[in-house]
Amino acid sequence: MNVEELFVENGALLKGHFLLSSGLHSDRYLQCALVLAQPGAAEKLGKALAAKSAVKPDLVLSPAMGGLMIGHEVARAFGVRHYFTERVDGVVQLRRGFALKPGEKVIVVEDVVTTGKSTKEVFEVVRASGANVIGALSIIDRTDGALDLRAPYAALWKVSITAWKPEECPLCKNGIPAIKPGSRVMEKK
Ligand code: ZN
Repeated sequence: MNVEELFVENGALLKGHFLLSSGLHSDRYLQCALVLAQPGAAEKLGKALAAKSAVKPDLVLSPAMGGLMIGHEVARAFGVRHYFTERVDGVVQLRRGFALKPGEKVIVVEDVVTTGKSTKEVFEVVRASGANVIGALSIIDRTDGALDLRAPYAALWKVSITAWKPEECPLCKNGIPAIKPGSRVMEKK
């Protein structure tokens, strides 16, 4: 499976001039939700990710919202449960009756890993309940190899997207209007 092609086919690799939530500007934007909206594609990605893990977990855990659909598909491929964490008043936690048992083997699954912040927060939830993090998986790796999660980590597609400060953005210099991703239909690749 070519993950990049899957994103292009589904209009999920956007090209243009984007104003990111970080305040930086970029010329490309990945919208995983547009690929995961296709159940067949989501299932394929889940199978491919599960195959990246040498160890079968007892359950898959994902941070909401980004990790929900792909976490579910990875769990389906393993034949195990899928739980998710939510952020309430800034604190990442398990709700809805989800509870981890001490010693359970947990794989954390997300759509994209960039800074690794959310991944590490989910690791903390696992460890606080006495369960074991056995690894992390994501569809897209945007870490540029600069991240050490201190756990096995694998992804299906490594992507490097340059982001500029507004004053250094070449697209701004060319007078191209910047838009917030998702604010309207954007040009496909
Ligand atoms: Zn710009």
